[in-house]
Amino acid sequence: MIDTPAPPVVLESTARPVTSTSRLRFAPSPTGFLHVGAARTALYNHLLARRHGAAFILRIEDTDRERHDDSAVAQIISALGWLGIDWDEGPGAPGPDGPYACSARADVYAAAAAHLLSAARAYPCFCSAEQLAADRELAKTEGRAQVYSGRCRNLTEAERAARIAAGAAPALRLLMPSQTIRIQDMVRGEVTFESAQLGDHIIVRPDGTPTYNFANPVDDHAMRISHVLRGEDLLPSTGRQMAVIAALGGQLPSYGHLPMVNGADGRKLSKRHGDCAVEDFQTRGICAEALVNQLALVGWSPEGEEQVMTRAEIQDRFSLGRVHRSAAVFDERKLASLNGDHLRAMPAPLFLERLRDYLRAADAELHDEPRLPELASFIQEKIGRSLEEFPGLARPLLARLGPEDKAAAVLGSADTPRVLAAARECLSELMPFTVPVVEAGLRQLPEALGLSMRKCFAPIRCAVSGRVVSPGLAESIVFLGRDESLARLGAAARASHQP
Ligand code: GLU
Repeated sequence: MIDTPAPPVVLESTARPVTSTSRLRFAPSPTGFLHVGAARTALYNHLLARRHGAAFILRIEDTDRERHDDSAVAQIISALGWLGIDWDEGPGAPGPDGPYACSARADVYAAAAAHLLSAARAYPCFCSAEQLAADRELAKTEGRAQVYSGRCRNLTEAERAARIAAGAAPALRLLMPSQTIRIQDMVRGEVTFESAQLGDHIIVRPDGTPTYNFANPVDDHAMRISHVLRGEDLLPSTGRQMAVIAALGGQLPSYGHLPMVNGADGRKLSKRHGDCAVEDFQTRGICAEALVNQLALVGWSPEGEEQVMTRAEIQDRFSLGRVHRSAAVFDERKLASLNGDHLRAMPAPLFLERLRDYLRAADAELHDEPRLPELASFIQEKIGRSLEEFPGLARPLLARLGPEDKAAAVLGSADTPRVLAAARECLSELMPFTVPVVEAGLRQLPEALGLSMRKCFAPIRCAVSGRVVSPGLAESIVFLGRDESLARLGAAARASHQP
């Protein structure tokens, strides 16, 4: 038996600041897509790490091989990449503490278990599933906490050896010292557990596989994680995980538990609310900048009023001190509005890149359109909430689609023939045929015709684009070119003359 010091009466994890020597991690279980709640956890860890120059590690917690899905790992990696979340160590980024997937770390868990066993910090448990179920039933009827009775705790070496010789395959349980476990949670403040409420939990199953509440702290310890920032749903496991790290002789990380993410109706965000997988937002024309902005605000509020922030601004301002304790709301409408703000404000080359990423899957034909950069340059400012609006604004300029109903109604108004005639005359003379010149030319028309701007420009817009809502009129006309613009005005004028 290894001689280890007696466990302290109070086991405490303190809230230490993140510094350049800190190590943070994101540890998703790849059971499906990357949920926005998990993405928020990844983002907060990443922001803190990058802000303070700390290390950020991605660890794939694929302990549950039955629920495991190989494509889910690829999906998580791609979603994180899309959000601009990179890692210093993890899949594709080898480091000293790898490998970075639980499924490849069986020997690490086995060594940790062997160490705890020989240090008498863990013991074999021979209880059958039936015995344990009966214990739980009894505890329930007696109104006690359903924790392990400790039946196998004090078996002698001889008794253990005899059972093993008789062919029993024991589980391994952590010997939980009698202590108060205290967390100075970086988000929630002080949280305490009494070890008696937790009992001796199984760390290795009879088949030799580690349990989740063993693999997780063993890895945090082995990877020298200094700060664990994760969802509040994991808080109940923290006491057990701290006990494992302490038993291994490790330094406890600081913990912070983030509020749950709810939908606008106050219920836990799920498929019921619509999209909650990161990749769904991408296909819906949301840009990563907006989703990052929104995720940052789900549970955190910056100082000051400004809500529309670039990643760099968020990183400069982010602190755990301003993370809320109460459940956070993921508001789709706010996301849409942030999305419009980001798309309109981004530099043109970035907008084009985001647009191309979106169109690649959504509209391959438009994606390959040679004049896409030109279209993007003047449609960008017209995007209200989503890149999904782009094809509807661009297509009428690439082909004559005929007027929509609303446009047809505008074109049917009494002033249309003379407006279109004046517009044709104006456009046929302008030199050079550039946006400022066309704009200045068109601006003369309302007064010359004695019409309001709206009454004058609406028929021109409808004639040129077939739509009542279009990109900038002068930009659209210059994009079409003089001949095509005159042809469209002519065609609309002829149609408006027909009874
Ligand atoms: N693997 C856990 C999850 O995906 C997270 C564990 C942790 O962060 O400690 O919910």
